[in-house]
Amino acid sequence: MAHNEADLDRALADAHIPTLMMALVHMTGDASHLTPELRPVYDFFGDGQGGLSPEAQDDIRAKAKAAFQALEGGKPLPPVPSRDTIRKMMDFIAGVDIPERYVPFLMEELALAGVDAKLPVWEGPKAKANAKRLKVLIIGAGMSGILTAIRLQQAGVAFTIIEKNADVGGTWLENTYPGCRVDNPNHLYSFSFEPNHDWPYYFSTQPVLLAYFQRTAEKHGLKKHIRFDTQVQEARFDEAKNLWRVTVRNPDGSTETLEADAVVSAVGQLNQPNIPDIPGADSFSGQAFHTARWPDGLDVTGKRIACIGTGASAFQFVPEVAKAAAHVDVYQRTPPWLGPTPNYHDPVPTGMQWALEHIPFYEKWYRFYLFWTMTDGVLDGVRVEPGYNGPQNAVGEVNAALREMLVMKIAEQLPDDPGLLENVVPQYPFGGKRSVRDNGVWIDALKRDNVDLITAGIDKITPAGVVTADGAEHPADILIYGTGFKASQFLSTYKIIGRNGESLHDHWAGDARAYLGMTVPGFPNFFMIYGPNTNIVVNGSIIFFSECSVRYIVGALELLADQNLATLEVKPTVHDDFNTRVDAANLQMAWGAPQSHSWYKNALGRVSQNWPFLLVDYWEATLKPNPADFVLTPRRETVEAA
Ligand code: NAP
Repeated sequence: MAHNEADLDRALADAHIPTLMMALVHMTGDASHLTPELRPVYDFFGDGQGGLSPEAQDDIRAKAKAAFQALEGGKPLPPVPSRDTIRKMMDFIAGVDIPERYVPFLMEELALAGVDAKLPVWEGPKAKANAKRLKVLIIGAGMSGILTAIRLQQAGVAFTIIEKNADVGGTWLENTYPGCRVDNPNHLYSFSFEPNHDWPYYFSTQPVLLAYFQRTAEKHGLKKHIRFDTQVQEARFDEAKNLWRVTVRNPDGSTETLEADAVVSAVGQLNQPNIPDIPGADSFSGQAFHTARWPDGLDVTGKRIACIGTGASAFQFVPEVAKAAAHVDVYQRTPPWLGPTPNYHDPVPTGMQWALEHIPFYEKWYRFYLFWTMTDGVLDGVRVEPGYNGPQNAVGEVNAALREMLVMKIAEQLPDDPGLLENVVPQYPFGGKRSVRDNGVWIDALKRDNVDLITAGIDKITPAGVVTADGAEHPADILIYGTGFKASQFLSTYKIIGRNGESLHDHWAGDARAYLGMTVPGFPNFFMIYGPNTNIVVNGSIIFFSECSVRYIVGALELLADQNLATLEVKPTVHDDFNTRVDAANLQMAWGAPQSHSWYKNALGRVSQNWPFLLVDYWEATLKPNPADFVLTPRRETVEAA
């Protein structure tokens, strides 16, 4: 169907030009416009158009328009460019020469042939037949649980999902506070196999994200496999039978034990509220709650609000609450780093949405552009430089230079308020904690007459409000804990008992570890997604990480099926060597530096949350499980038959 020229013109006006240049190659089969003079140069605070002059941008638009119209007129789409040309295009749009090692990884992300590269294809006849015998239990129907279910369904493996909530969506179901939105660009923060051309914002709001995951679950027919309002209490490995017995509490309060060959725990890291133990907290006479338990329909109009914490959640809800509240006190212990993101609240222009949907390969290359510029390309900025002996508010010269630029951007927002400026500039290195996306809304909120940023520590809470260490009393009607989650207490909502009756939590003793974040010796056929050391700080989308983990887990199940195994269990040496490398590497990152304190470190001071390597490292490590890494136990009947 021919498209309206006005739509095309709007799309070209709104288009990301470096991406359009890539689409132009596909539409014409000609890459001659990829000249060194036009190669994008990105700067940290730039407009993302790679520094192209308005004339050059218009020239590309005109060429793209002619090419698109020629296709509409019946000219066939040229074949997908050669690998060499694609390589050249990658380097071009990234604005750097991408190391060769990344090419297969990024080719997969590009998926130019429209192939879902992570689609599980179990080719071996045994794997296919035995797949039918496997039963997998997935815990959690958030982003990772849904993803696991989709992949298992595609592999022909039976599964059940146990979900504590009444619907799918996990964190996007639970966090309904005003202002809640994703802080990763949506065109990246989405399943690689479920692109969405219609994201209304570059960083969409919670209802939009929730609708996306619910729609995806519906589309793949998952709901009939999910037991909602059901809580897992215990997962226990039965050594005699080589299966997991999972005890659940049903919505009617009854308990039931389910059996499964394998368990995939997809319970997330960030859903058990951390409520600090502040003296007098119970005496508060008003409403008090955590951000992840926001009361439905809460009206803050005319109320005095106390907000404890200035992390990612507070950063989003404080500006919203301040619009209606009579007064807001923001209790800050440590300021967050503000990462300039001018389009943080911007809608995606309709022309851009149109381009994503209709211009051939535009959507693929836009995702690729985000992928590169937001991921491994930025990790060096938070790396500890050997021999660095500058101020402790940085971990190296590159990190210090970044710091300087970011401080400058904060200072620009506070030309007349040196007191507030001093309080909002972090004294720890950039990358020490998760930074937040800034478009000026946070500082604007702090500057409001009805908002106070309070940096004196909290001494106690009284029925009437908060008393700070300087003795000041701050009256409040509502107390909001934006104090984060018990992230390092992995899988804390249920017991896991492995071989020899050993509890996983006793085994961890407060220091959760796993091989590739997924498997632990002594816990056969038990896998975690978003497990220990799989969180990413600056480089990339957690959905990408989950997609890699799920490919690996499904690969492990394929190994079980193909070799007719009862169990596979990671070898202690493999697990321990991996963790030694992880620990050493985390110490080389800003978040692992001694002066950095955050939820990335557990109570023992070890970085238990973060992946310290590149994304490409995780991608490579999770392509396929190496059977040599596991103790493989054949099924009993196979042994008996032999
Ligand atoms: P958070 O980043 O851990 O922030 C908790 C805040 O509470 C910090 O400012 C912390 O101060 C403060 N705090 C904790 N205990 C305190 C105490 N006893 N007294 C005073 N202050 C105290 O928690 P969050 O904001 O809920 O975010 C957690 C993670 O969830 C984020 O890092 C991010 O990964 C994710 N998240 C993402 C988004 C998004 O935009 N997509 C939104 C929300 C959350 P200190 O820094 O001094 O400890």
